[in-house]
Amino acid sequence: MQKIRGDFGVINRYREYLPVSEATPIISLSEGSTPLIHAPTLSEMVQGNIYLKYEGLNPTCSFKDRGMTVAISKAAEHSAKAVLCASTGNTSASAAAYAARAGMQCVVILPAGRIAGGKMVQAYLYGATVVAIKGNFDDALRIVQKLGERGDFVVVNSTNPYRLEGQKTAAFEIIEELGKAPDLHILPVGNAGNITAYWKGYREFYDVGRSYNLPIMLGVQASGAAPLYHGAPMDHPETLATAIRIGQPASWNGAVGAVKESLGEFDMVTDEEILAAQKWLASKEGVFAEPASVVPVALLLKIFQSEDHHLCRSKTIFSKLPLHPTIVLTITGHGLKDPETASHTLSEPLQAEATEEAVLNVIQGS
Ligand SMILES: *Cc1c(COP(=O)(O)O)cnc(C)c1O
Repeated sequence: MQKIRGDFGVINRYREYLPVSEATPIISLSEGSTPLIHAPTLSEMVQGNIYLKYEGLNPTCSFKDRGMTVAISKAAEHSAKAVLCASTGNTSASAAAYAARAGMQCVVILPAGRIAGGKMVQAYLYGATVVAIKGNFDDALRIVQKLGERGDFVVVNSTNPYRLEGQKTAAFEIIEELGKAPDLHILPVGNAGNITAYWKGYREFYDVGRSYNLPIMLGVQASGAAPLYHGAPMDHPETLATAIRIGQPASWNGAVGAVKESLGEFDMVTDEEILAAQKWLASKEGVFAEPASVVPVALLLKIFQSEDHHLCRSKTIFSKLPLHPTIVLTITGHGLKDPETASHTLSEPLQAEATEEAVLNVIQGS
């Protein structure tokens, strides 16, 4: 059968590495194949080649789509009628979109008042049933896992192994584009599924000889929600980067394994550093990402530009890298997901009468 342009999503691109068969109906929105954008200003700062894997350009504007196409396709294969997830926002947006595509009901359980506006709108428009609980993400995930045991819903959180299978394809794409794995991969860590998936992807391509090196994995958390950094779960995680506001990561063991096996590290940055990095990335590199997505950038700025560099546990990793290293940062979600948090940077526009002269005057006076 001839492939039409619209169905070149991650399943069709990497079918032989994914748990799908002829019997699996492919539910895809043409996710994946996101750009690996060279970042000249960061590269200069770090004296290496820095690339941004811009996952904000997926169909629902976060990397969650890579795993969701596999999870929902498998749910369809097993004739599921409804899917269920807990979410800090992006999982629900993605689940709702793919469930809509598959004609399934989607129920999402969210921490009340802690979901970015863009993500909330997505869940509603894609037609999900939205339940807000008086609790945090960890509470929501606990409830979802209990409800999942009843058997009438398929849980599509990253505890669903098909999610991580799909997400590992980002590592495949990076290897294909660079011709090798990077020396270092830095990404945000919340529930820790993505760092687990990337490491799996890098390992799989290494094992079949499609790359000859493995990267060091560096996972970055927000300082108010840094259980992996501290090595212990947290009861009251707090950060404005809502996508990583998680105290009890479900993929704890996978994340610790990735960091140990790759001789990597967990590190953390503060909310102030996150906000500064968000503005910096948009204004210096032209890439607008949501707060959780810029924690790797915040870490680089801290290590290479701040007096506080000695506070960074991962600093020593940089001194062990080869000269002019290749470093990839995953930019996990689009900035327009959460314009409210970035709105601190807004000021009133300059005011002018509707004439060329008046406009020129205010521009020159600014
Ligand atoms: C889900 C998400 C994360 C965290 O990924 P985990 O797999 O939970 O560690 C980070 N950033 C964004 C934008 C996300 O949506």
